[in-house]
Amino acid sequence: MIIKGIAVSAGIALGQAKVLQPLDSKLDYHLLPPSQLHFEQRCLDKALAALTSQIKKSALHLQPDSDHYQLIEADLMLLEDEELQEELQVAIAKQQFSAALAVEHTFAKHAQAMRDMDTPYLSCRAEDILSLGQRLIRILLTGESTELSNIPDNSIIITQDITPAEFATLPLERVSGLVLQTGGVTSHTAILARSASIPTLMSCPCDLTLIANGAPIAVDAISGELIVNPTQEQVARLAIAQQQALERKVGLEQFKNQATQTQDGHKISLLANVGCISEINHLADVGAEGVGLFRTEFMFMNNHELPDEHQQYLLYCDALQLLGGKPLTIRTIDLGADKEVPSLSMVKEENPALGLRGVRYTLSHPQLFKAQLRAILRAANHGQVRLMFPMVNQVEELEAVLSLIEQCKNELIEAEKGFGDVTFGIVVETPAAVINLDSMLPLLDFISIGTNDLTQYTMAADRSNPYLIDRYPVLSPAIIKLIGQSINCAKAANVQVSMCGELASNPNATALLIGLGIDELSVSVAALLEIKQELTRWRYQDCVKLAEQAMVISRIDTLNELLTRCHS
Ligand code: PEP
Ligand code: MG
Repeated sequence: MIIKGIAVSAGIALGQAKVLQPLDSKLDYHLLPPSQLHFEQRCLDKALAALTSQIKKSALHLQPDSDHYQLIEADLMLLEDEELQEELQVAIAKQQFSAALAVEHTFAKHAQAMRDMDTPYLSCRAEDILSLGQRLIRILLTGESTELSNIPDNSIIITQDITPAEFATLPLERVSGLVLQTGGVTSHTAILARSASIPTLMSCPCDLTLIANGAPIAVDAISGELIVNPTQEQVARLAIAQQQALERKVGLEQFKNQATQTQDGHKISLLANVGCISEINHLADVGAEGVGLFRTEFMFMNNHELPDEHQQYLLYCDALQLLGGKPLTIRTIDLGADKEVPSLSMVKEENPALGLRGVRYTLSHPQLFKAQLRAILRAANHGQVRLMFPMVNQVEELEAVLSLIEQCKNELIEAEKGFGDVTFGIVVETPAAVINLDSMLPLLDFISIGTNDLTQYTMAADRSNPYLIDRYPVLSPAIIKLIGQSINCAKAANVQVSMCGELASNPNATALLIGLGIDELSVSVAALLEIKQELTRWRYQDCVKLAEQAMVISRIDTLNELLTRCHS
């Protein structure tokens, strides 16, 4: 069986299926007849025993002093708590709930009690309790568990969706591929999958009920195909494609030490997007000139407890040390929309992508924001730091951020802590930011165009929605015009222009972006050498001509044809 999907992280994986059934809408809220209650109570006991034993098994692989082990211990204590077990049994017996409903109800009550205590640690626990409850419910409804720490090597996870926070908990060393029914190239889970080099398909309309756990699976995340029970010929063909991809990768290594410039010497800076410190270790392998985007919220998602100012300071210092003098562009935490942090209790919003996102969130949580700003300012004593703010639309927001930075500096002076110079930039990722650039540029040293959100907000098209992916691509006339306008505006004000959105990692767009006047591209580590190869093929004047042609095109397909023709 072959099912088409969108390849969002290139590569080929051969392995076995680990299917995670979604739980949505399966909870039955009807009261049960008394005759069924005893059966539900037994199901609950079995589910509790199954989850307890799975968790105990996964603890065997962990160091007792690790964070993860302590979490697991806390989960076990809860599952073995006799009062809780009694409460669950009573919810079934007295309220006539199904076992799953009793779990949902009781765990939600306990989580709320933790939140009400209003200390950060207990808020974290609230999220853990809810997630433990979900795991129990999954066992009750599907008979299977989401306990992924025990999955076999070469597992290919196939499911409806995985949030960035869930991705952060996957045992990546055992995951060789990922297939999701939702999502697209610019979704944050796709960005994480690329960073981790996991071949991934998204928007893949596979029927999860037709794929058996353990079934042989091939993920062709080059041509965009999921193959269930591949034939010997298909496996052989994919093994050849895998070998060819490897050879292409080796071939690209020759570009590592080449200058990042067009044939006629027009220089572009080529930096990398990263989501964690360990990725910085790989920058030298591809000859990146620094970090053009450090998505710091991923570091918050990976941590069970929020890193405090000191921990963040050490982390940024480590990053600067690894970079050995090259620039580190730190984007302050960009939470909200699909990026939730388990350790922060974030309010549920009707339209999170249009809600408390980016600086809107951090400005409304000044203590959290200032801890990060102080950590960054202090780390700037040890290297070249560029400080960048996400989702700034309006000069007032920028002024509010800069005034907090002044406050932070004063606090550091008072505390006799040193800090260094930083330059300031914003991610231009909404149409309002483009339109309002004139008023903000005098306060900025650089801008970085975030095409992922710029496309989402310009097209009013959710970047993770599988139904919209083909119709609202980044390479479209409206987006190209907004990019052109941002570049012209910034250049007129002598402000440097970078691009950190995924369009920068698309070789079809490289010549166009150079022709439009971009100074710097910040791309995923996996794409960096390919982008360098592409830009060294071009002469600057040809890029300018291409950009002039592209700017007057009004149709998406014509634009695509032009750029594909130039690239091939
Ligand atoms: C963007 O929106 O283009 C961007 C770089 O930010 P993120 O993908 O993290 O939202
Ligand atoms: Mg963005």
